[in-house]
Amino acid sequence: MSDSPKALFLFDIDGTLISPGKTARSIFIEIVKELTNKEVVLEVHQVAGYTDPNILENMLQRAGLNDNEIPHAMGKFFPDYYERFENRYQSAEDKLIFGDISEFLPELYKVDNIYLGLVTGNMERSAMIKLSPFGLKKYFEVGAYASDNADRNELPPIAVSRAEALWELKFDPDEVFVVGDTIYDVECALHNGFKAIGIARKDGEKEMEQLKDAGASWVYNSLPTVSQLMTIANLN
Ligand SMILES: [Mg+2]
Repeated sequence: MSDSPKALFLFDIDGTLISPGKTARSIFIEIVKELTNKEVVLEVHQVAGYTDPNILENMLQRAGLNDNEIPHAMGKFFPDYYERFENRYQSAEDKLIFGDISEFLPELYKVDNIYLGLVTGNMERSAMIKLSPFGLKKYFEVGAYASDNADRNELPPIAVSRAEALWELKFDPDEVFVVGDTIYDVECALHNGFKAIGIARKDGEKEMEQLKDAGASWVYNSLPTVSQLMTIANLN
C-alpha cells in the first residue's frame, strides 16, 4: 500500500475517446428487426450515455415484446451483435478518434501516479472492438462494462476495485475521476462519491452547461491538458 498522491481517471468511450459512427446502431436495429419483425428507430439521443442492455431493452419494449419475452431476446441478441460488429467495424469509414486523444493518452499514461481505466456502457467485448482499430486498448488495463452491470451507476466501484487489485493500491474517493461526455457519466461519478470531468465534444456552450448543471466539477470543450489534469488531481 502506498500513501503517495495518485489519481485514477476512468474514461467513457463513445463521444469521449472516439466516435464509433453508425455501425453499432444499425446492427442493433437490424437484429431487433430479425427478432421481432418490427423496425425500431434508434437515434443518437436514445443511445448516448445509456448502457447497451438498457438500449436494447428499450428497443425490445418499443417493438412490443413483453417482460417475459425480453430476457430471451436479449440472450439471443448479443452473440449475433458481437459477430456482426467485429466484422463490419474495422472497415467502417464513419468511425473516428478525436484528434486530441492520440497525443493526450500516451502522454497521460506515462505520468507516474496516474492510473487509467474505462467506465463504459458498452459490453466488454464491444468496448474492445471499438478501441482496437485506434490502438487504444493498451492504455486501459482495467475497466468496468455493461457486461458487469447494466446500471452505469454501479460501474465505477467495479473499475476501482479492479485497479486496486491490479496495482496493489487503495484509491480514496477523492483520487477517482470519471471522464465523460454525458450527464450519465457525471451521475455515475457523483453516485459513488467520485468527481466528474465533463468533455463537451459537440455543441459547446449548451453541452458544457448541462454537464456543469449535472454536477461535473470541471468541464472542457475538448480535453484538458495533462498538466491541467495533474493540477485537478493535486499531483503538481
Ligand atoms: Mg459517451
